[in-house]
Amino acid sequence: MTDNFVAKWLKVNGIVQGVGFRPFVFQLAQKYGLKGEVANTSAGVSIHVEGLAGHITSFEADLATQAPPLAYIVDIASQTGIVKQYSDFAIVKSHGNSRMSTLISPDVSVCDDCLAELLDPGDRRYHYPFINCTNCGPRYTIIDDIPYDRPKTSMRHFIMCPACQAEYDEPTNRRFHAQPNACDDCGPHVGLFDYHKIEIGKQNPVGKAVELLKQGNILAIKGLGGYHLAADAANADAVRRLRRRKIREEKPLAVMSADLATIRGYAAVNKEEEQLLTSIRRPIVLLRKKTPNSISDQVAPRNNYFGVMLPYTPLHYLLLKHDFTALVMTSGNLSDEPIAIDNDDAFNRLAAIADYFLIHDRDIYLRSDDSIVRHIAGAERFIRRSRGFVPIPVFLKKEVPPILACGAELKNTVCVTRQDKAFLSQHIGDLENVATYDFFRLTVDHLKRILDFNPEIIACDMHPDYLSTRFAAEQAPIPNIQVQHHHAHVVSCMAEHKLEGDVIGLAFDGTGYGADGTIWGGEILIASSHEFKRTGHLATVAMPGGAAAIKEPWRMAISYLQRTFGDDFQNLDLPALGEIETEKVNILREMISKKVNSPLTSSLGRLFDGVAAICGIRKQVNFEGQAAMEFEMLAADSTNQAYDYQWETGASHRLLTTPIIEGVVADIQSRVPVAKISTKFHRTLIRLFAEFCDLVRRESDLNRVVLSGGCFQNATLLSGLIQALHDKKFAVFTHQQVPANDGGISLGQAVVAAAKARQA
Ligand code: ZN
Ligand code: ZN
Ligand code: FE
Repeated sequence: MTDNFVAKWLKVNGIVQGVGFRPFVFQLAQKYGLKGEVANTSAGVSIHVEGLAGHITSFEADLATQAPPLAYIVDIASQTGIVKQYSDFAIVKSHGNSRMSTLISPDVSVCDDCLAELLDPGDRRYHYPFINCTNCGPRYTIIDDIPYDRPKTSMRHFIMCPACQAEYDEPTNRRFHAQPNACDDCGPHVGLFDYHKIEIGKQNPVGKAVELLKQGNILAIKGLGGYHLAADAANADAVRRLRRRKIREEKPLAVMSADLATIRGYAAVNKEEEQLLTSIRRPIVLLRKKTPNSISDQVAPRNNYFGVMLPYTPLHYLLLKHDFTALVMTSGNLSDEPIAIDNDDAFNRLAAIADYFLIHDRDIYLRSDDSIVRHIAGAERFIRRSRGFVPIPVFLKKEVPPILACGAELKNTVCVTRQDKAFLSQHIGDLENVATYDFFRLTVDHLKRILDFNPEIIACDMHPDYLSTRFAAEQAPIPNIQVQHHHAHVVSCMAEHKLEGDVIGLAFDGTGYGADGTIWGGEILIASSHEFKRTGHLATVAMPGGAAAIKEPWRMAISYLQRTFGDDFQNLDLPALGEIETEKVNILREMISKKVNSPLTSSLGRLFDGVAAICGIRKQVNFEGQAAMEFEMLAADSTNQAYDYQWETGASHRLLTTPIIEGVVADIQSRVPVAKISTKFHRTLIRLFAEFCDLVRRESDLNRVVLSGGCFQNATLLSGLIQALHDKKFAVFTHQQVPANDGGISLGQAVVAAAKARQA
């Protein structure tokens, strides 16, 4: 034995089980001629290696950089070990209770090795739509309980054939312990049905499905996290029919294309977007449309962007290799309901929409919608964080007690914490109907099971009428902590960046229940994890008709005009005003002045709606934020001008909107193009907020600014404000791991509840 023959003991923490990590370590040890062993433990993977010191150094370097695609390494602890003179390197049985902290991988796209086999006529899995290995395939959506072993997944119904079993048992095989391993002889199968549930095209269901799509039919296709509704995206009739049947008026529909080259035919793709599209997580990426293009204008009307993804299951590849420019692949649901996952459920709920059903017999235990991302201001921003990303945890600065946070009302997700990890659920949806509330409870139960979790604290919103708030109360005697909506927004972003102490938090969104009972949404807070002060807010206006004002932005237009010009506003020369019946205007005016069903709001989302409606963008919307979105898309003018703005100091400073409305109206009256008005409006907000942060910094000595809330999905506002704050030498923090919108709220709730519990 020479001097530099040493031993090391390594502990790898993260998502390292069920992802081919031990075979990877085994092969790495062989490569460097090291002896020892590797095992799964309750804390991750434990490795003992002995050999030449230089080889061990290389081994450690490769361990961190060459890990299998599904592995997610958080840290590697390394210490000197005792040389035990091992005779070889072995994968040994798990030590202890590996139940405790096993992290489950998300579902990811089929890998290149499996894809090559799928398309190789000589391979035994040629054209088998469920091909997978330890580096790819379903995980989170097929698991019912832990530990993650085949009997605890929906693969339990399929007994492996000898060939599959041999792969599963062989440590050097790519399918060693790949729980969903299967082949045509022993695994799941697809079947094609018409809407009477009569099976057709038995010989070649996928080929027949392609033929039906080409003819303009709508197919319900069972995927990884649920059903999609598919149609040929180039066929305007088919897409129009899908929209009509799905009762989805104008919301953009996602599309899927076979490869990047095809996508480049209809959308612009930069380097970062290419990385997002091709990542194993395969999100829907928002890409700028090219014009003209061959996609039906019914796919994303009045929108500068397409939501595009690449295929992620073997079945998608088999469907798309038949010369489609793109297939519409939208969630298999009626508007506002959760996506269908169960075959019977799909037939029941989708029969009125789909002409045919391409189904399979591998059950989905937990639905997971497609994730949606957009590249803005140098980073990936989530619009929806779901399939492909869940359940990767957000790593917290400190250990926290087990908390279940119930999330917001819209775009709901829940969050559970375990030690220093916060697990956000997949996208659940808007908690406004029984079906979604059932899914909410199912997800909570599921997460409790697969994360081996029992809450000691429940966190929820302050809104007394939310289903999630009531759910929290029903969990008594487990104590619940109510968290103000915008405080949760700011803290969710702080948690991502592990920030402690006080920050300046800008929380801009549509609606959130305020601490004073009014509707907040344009809030500048001085916040820490456990408390906040509302240091400033947009001046409030009435929302005549309450929730109706969200669906009908013209109501906000009237409200802002009346606030700015008094009753004289009706004499203004505004084309948009002329389109509204005088009687309706009078009723609204009465409602506002008599304070009838006209709650006050400081929401920035409503200001966007109001200004968009004053400019004549649209009087009504089909989904929240539509008017604001269309208004933003017009902002393309290179003007450097902005409107006047000012604020009134007070216990909570008021940022006045009246000078902005005056400016907008003056521009409309002098026939300034809307593109220029939109640009000026965005510039105004950016300058106003940046200068206001200056004031807050002078008053508070704080230099860190955190941006959160759904308004920061507006790329012009987000990138402009980041730039303006950087110019003023602020440290700026924005969302990168969870959505800025209400999909990220549950994380903030959990961290606030933990901080409050610590204070108590
Ligand atoms: Zn694979
Ligand atoms: Zn088999
Ligand atoms: Fe919000």
